[in-house]
Amino acid sequence: MSSTDSLDSPAVALVHGRKVPTGLYIDGTWRPTGATFTVADPAEGTAVAEVADATGEHALEALDAATRAQEDWGAWAPRARAELFHTAHQLLQDRAEDFAAVMTAESGKPLAESRAEFGLSIGFFRWYAEQIGHLHGTYAHGSPGGYRIVATHQPVGPCLLITPWNFPLLMSARKAGAALAAGCTAVMKSAQETPLTGALFVQTLHDAGFPPGVVNLLHTTTSAAISDAVLGDARLRKVSFTGSTGVGSHLLGKAANNIVNASMELGGDGPFIVLDDADVDLAVEQAVVCKFRNAGQACVAANRIILHEAIAEEFTEKFVAQVRKLRVGNGFSDGVDVGPIISERQRDRVGELVAAFRQQGGEILAGGEPVDGPGYFFEPTVVRMDTRDHTLCGEELFAPLATLYTVGSVRQAIEFANDTHYGLAAYVFTRDLNRAVAVSEKLDFGMVGVNRGIMADPAAPFGGVKSSGLGREGGHDGIYEFLEPKYLALTID
Ligand code: NAD
Repeated sequence: MSSTDSLDSPAVALVHGRKVPTGLYIDGTWRPTGATFTVADPAEGTAVAEVADATGEHALEALDAATRAQEDWGAWAPRARAELFHTAHQLLQDRAEDFAAVMTAESGKPLAESRAEFGLSIGFFRWYAEQIGHLHGTYAHGSPGGYRIVATHQPVGPCLLITPWNFPLLMSARKAGAALAAGCTAVMKSAQETPLTGALFVQTLHDAGFPPGVVNLLHTTTSAAISDAVLGDARLRKVSFTGSTGVGSHLLGKAANNIVNASMELGGDGPFIVLDDADVDLAVEQAVVCKFRNAGQACVAANRIILHEAIAEEFTEKFVAQVRKLRVGNGFSDGVDVGPIISERQRDRVGELVAAFRQQGGEILAGGEPVDGPGYFFEPTVVRMDTRDHTLCGEELFAPLATLYTVGSVRQAIEFANDTHYGLAAYVFTRDLNRAVAVSEKLDFGMVGVNRGIMADPAAPFGGVKSSGLGREGGHDGIYEFLEPKYLALTID
């Protein structure tokens, strides 16, 4: 029996034996709508569920609810809020397998990856719960004397949280965790491809006892209608977005009209540098995970693998051998390493990318073709480029497609790595810690993995520079993204 069997919602879908609400969650209740859309399983190309399709009017109802709830929620005592978070954390934990199954059903990622995402997601939720009791301010004497400066923080106010499909639970827990812990209320908008994971998440917060209006959830096929309505309303005080740089830039423009606070986690073009003194076996192992996790559909994926010429041949041989061993298939099947691409359109885009690399002199060392079947699979592919000067360089691939480049020096590696408008995650492999630090400091990226290809951690500030975004999620900084400094000048003789 699933832990959501007792679910009290007028409309539910049965997803791999788990009941998931399919309405919009507004002001503490699930609401069906007239219009619905289909959520598809990318591994089978079949329908998983029909979910409610929100309009701009629903978005404003959700903002009404969030605005009404803001004053009370922002005034909750820190201990009470933290206790509610701990209750929710325990309930999330009890539903671990429900989340893993639903994530795999709608995103296609292998079950082991869904479980790993679940673990990281609730880690973020717990981290924020622990931060609630640690928020503090400062106290100082006014410069000329005669008063005191008390600087504290208050919640920004109602927030719009927009998440992508590639890590549906992690993005929801990371954003909503920070916003709610800070005392903000939220209107969440799920990605059209993966609304069910967000629904299970919000249902769990409901079951834990989050008050009506504090968190609201919309699914939609018309995202622009939602953001236009909510970002055009002066009651909204913050937008936090994870997705592509193009959409992020568009939303920043909208936020600017109302001077709305904004955090943006956008695209990446991760350089993965392997220096001449690297542990090549370790670099190969980490490159495989960093590149092919989630079928390459990750903002922090290794986008350009940059090899020092001294180890290029050894790395390439070992890497290609490992990639050829990866098993592609339905994420529910045992032993599968790489699941499907999220949609038919995206799968076709991968084919077009491979063709374009070929045309620009790329040598295909592994894969290169779509996989037959009902779903949207593509072979894990390795392309060796003999030039760093081609039109696809600097583009986020977001695909199970590894590109290898060779450089003759550390300096060349750094210059090539920085030759991108993105600045999210970079990686450097070397046995020399001095070198690792020196190279990391020169890399114009928000995060650098040294001898590791996976970095996300609740206690670390996740985020990028340049076109990769503004602000950080997690670490000590994450919660302050949802807090405003407040200054009191106290007259004291
Ligand atoms: P996307 O930008 O198309 O969509 C992201 C979200 O924005 C979805 O919920 C979508 O429905 C919504 N959206 C699209 N247009 C909108 C509009 N006008 N108003 C409001 N919402 C709108 O991106 P995607 O293809 O779903 O996700 C992949 C992108 O996300 C990649 O570029 C990836 O690098 C990035 N990403 C970044 C991070 C990070 O933390 N930096 C994490 C995961 C993904």
